[in-house]
Amino acid sequence: MSDKPVILLVEDSKFFATMIRRRIEDELGFEVDWKATYQEAIQAIDCCKAKYLVALLDLALPDAPNGEIVEYAMKKGIPGIIFTGGFDGAMRNKFLSWNIVDYILKGSSTCIDTLLETIQRVKSNQEISILVVEDSKTMRDAVVRLLKTQLYSVLEADNGEAALKMLGKHPDIKMIVTDYDMPIMDGFELIRKVRENHSKNELAIIGMSASGDPLLSAKLIKNGANDFVSKPFQVEEFHCRVGHAIEMLQNIALIKELSYKDPLTQLYNRRYFFENAQPFIQQCIQNDITYSVAMLDIDFFKKVNDSYGHDAGDQVLRQVAAIMNRCFPENGIVCRFGGEEFCVLISHGKDEDSIPQFDSLRRSIEALTVEIDGATISVTISAGICSEPDTVEAMLKVADRRLYTAKDSGRNKVVAE
Ligand code: GH3
Ligand code: MG
Ligand code: MG
Ligand code: MG
Repeated sequence: MSDKPVILLVEDSKFFATMIRRRIEDELGFEVDWKATYQEAIQAIDCCKAKYLVALLDLALPDAPNGEIVEYAMKKGIPGIIFTGGFDGAMRNKFLSWNIVDYILKGSSTCIDTLLETIQRVKSNQEISILVVEDSKTMRDAVVRLLKTQLYSVLEADNGEAALKMLGKHPDIKMIVTDYDMPIMDGFELIRKVRENHSKNELAIIGMSASGDPLLSAKLIKNGANDFVSKPFQVEEFHCRVGHAIEMLQNIALIKELSYKDPLTQLYNRRYFFENAQPFIQQCIQNDITYSVAMLDIDFFKKVNDSYGHDAGDQVLRQVAAIMNRCFPENGIVCRFGGEEFCVLISHGKDEDSIPQFDSLRRSIEALTVEIDGATISVTISAGICSEPDTVEAMLKVADRRLYTAKDSGRNKVVAE
C-alpha cells in the first residue's frame, strides 16, 4: 500500500471532480478517492474512514441535497472541507457548528488554488504543536476544539506556570495561545518568561483577552506576543491569525534553511559551519568523545573546467559532494567552504582514529567517474585533518596547513600530522 495521504472527494460533477483530482494528484502528489453520490461516499467512509486525511465535500449531491454528507463525515470524525455555491449568514453558522476545516466558494477562478493550499496546510498542521493556556475550562475547550478542527496537535495548561512546565516537557511547541487574566501566573508574565529563551521567529505567541482595557493588546505585543485576539472573536479571524503566525514561522524556517545551504551541492555552507561547529564541539566535550576537523580540496580542479567546461565542473562538484555526504555519519557537519574546498567536522571515540574515514572518502572519490558528453572525468582530493582538541578556528588553521602539505607532497592524500 502506498503511504501517500488519501483525500476523499465527494462531488457529483464529473467535470469538476476530474479537474480537482488531477490537480491534487499532480501538484500535491496525494491520492484521491472520488465518490459521486451520498450512498457511495457513506460506504467509503464506513469501510475505510481511517485512511482519509481530509474529505472535500460538495454540499448538494443528487441523493443528499442539503449537506447531509457533511454531517455524516463530521460524525465519523473525518475533517471536512466544504464546497459551496452560495453563502449567507445562516449557512455560515451551520458550517461552523459542524466544526469543519474550512468552506470554499465554488466558481471563483482561484477556488481550486485555495483548496490545494488548504489541503497542504491541514497536512502540515498535523506536525505542529500548539499550547493553549486559559483558566476558563469552557473557553479553553472551545479554543482547543477550533485548533483541532485544523488538525493541529494541541496541548493545554490552565495558567502560566503550568504552561512553562509544559513547554519544558515539549520543546517542539511552535505556538502558544494564551489568555491574559489567569491565577498563579498571568499571560503577561508567561510571555515575558517564554521570550527569555524563545524568539518570536521560533515560537509564536497569540494573546487573548476579554478585558475591556484598550491598551492590553499593545502591552502584550510590545512585550513579545506576535499577535492578539479579543474575546469573543469570530472563528475565521481566529483561524487567520493562527494561520498567519504559523506561516510566518514556516517562512522564516525556510529562509534560514536556504541561507545555510549551498545551492549547487545542497551541502551546508560556511555560515552553517561557523554557527554550529562550537556547539558540536561542546557536545563532544560533554559526552567525553573526541572530534576531528578536516579541510579538503579537489586536486587540479581548474583543469576540469578548462578541459570540459564549467557545467561539467559543476556536475563533478555535485557528485563529489554527494559522496562526501554519504561517507560521514548523520551527526557530522559536512560543508562546502567555497569553490572546490570542503570542510568536515566529525566526532569519534577517544581511541578511534579518524584517518581511515577520510582515506576511505579519498578512495571513493578517486574511484568516481563522471560521464559527460562522451567524456569520462575523474578527480582526486587532498585532505588535511586536525584531531588535537582546540577551538574550531585553531583546528581549522592546523587542518589547512596539513592540506597544503598534502598538496605539496603529491596530492590525492590525507595528512593528519
Ligand atoms: P589544486 O590542486 O592546487 O587545488 O589546484 P586547483 O586547480 O584545484 O586549484 P585552483 O585554486 O587553481 O582552482 C580552483 C578552480 O575551481 C578554479 C575555479 O574556477 C574552480 N571553481 C570554483 N568554484 C567553482 C564552481 O562552483 N564551479 C566550477 N565549475 N568551478 C569552480
Ligand atoms: Mg482568564
Ligand atoms: Mg583545488
Ligand atoms: Mg582551492
